[in-house]
Amino acid sequence: MKLKDKVCVVTGAASGIGKEIALTFAREGARIVIADLNLDAANATAAEIDAIGGGAMGVAMDVTDEAQVNAGIAAVVAAWGGIDVLVSNAGIQIVHPLEDFPFAEWKKMLAIHLDGAFLTTKACLPHMYASGRGGSVIYMGSVHSKEASLLKAPYVTAKHGLIGLAKVVAKEGAAHGVRANVICPGFVRTPLVDKQIPEQAKTLGISEDEVVKTVMLKDTVDGEFTTTADVAEVALLFASFPSNALTGQSLVVSHGWFMQ
Ligand code: NAD
Repeated sequence: MKLKDKVCVVTGAASGIGKEIALTFAREGARIVIADLNLDAANATAAEIDAIGGGAMGVAMDVTDEAQVNAGIAAVVAAWGGIDVLVSNAGIQIVHPLEDFPFAEWKKMLAIHLDGAFLTTKACLPHMYASGRGGSVIYMGSVHSKEASLLKAPYVTAKHGLIGLAKVVAKEGAAHGVRANVICPGFVRTPLVDKQIPEQAKTLGISEDEVVKTVMLKDTVDGEFTTTADVAEVALLFASFPSNALTGQSLVVSHGWFMQ
């Protein structure tokens, strides 16, 4: 087992990519913290994961709220004694042309993607440093950490920003064996993407089928969606890699959409 008894906090893990990462880590022996907005949803996912065996707990956490983040991480440390892996994954999508983008929605997007990554990292690092075991911080970026698309100004801005944050955490954490990396998935069918398809169809004046074929998957090598399992495999690599040799990096998992 690659993560036996490691305490892994996954934000936004009640749904989609985060939930799959939590399930994958649990199969590798990890103890999982499902940190999500809604405690009932977090607890429901935790109960599913607990059945696999490693142990799981739900924590109510709005990642944009410093007090909730600190209280949630403190509760994990009180229960399980430390933190080995943070997956900063919670995220939302809001699309508008830039000239129509409400400022409040721009700020909400940057708060969830960037403030959330900063606050959870800040809360977890002291525990990773104190343990003497090192740790792994994983940010959920996107192909939009490398590439732009229409209608997504704050999302593209924030996802690019996570690469900068990971590089700083990689440098500051190195002396303590703490690594930081970014996963950059292509489109994955989760509630976040299912919501965008009709929205983009309306804004761009095209059919939903055309959004999938000509917007979302047009630059992939095979017209395929990336899956939550694909992303979870990359997360497992970053979480279990044993040394600072793999740090400060970003890995695109996207069926070839954006090649480096
Ligand atoms: P999802 O909607 O299925 O899950 C997102 C989860 O985040 C939900 O459980 C939600 O409750 C939680 N969340 C939202 N705001 C939160 C907050 N303020 N505090 C705590 N939790 C909060 O979405 P998903 O597709 O699984 O997305 C997960 C991450 O993956 C996001 O960062 C997203 O940008 C990124 N991503 C998704 C895709 C994709 O195609 N689905 C591609 C690249 C990157």
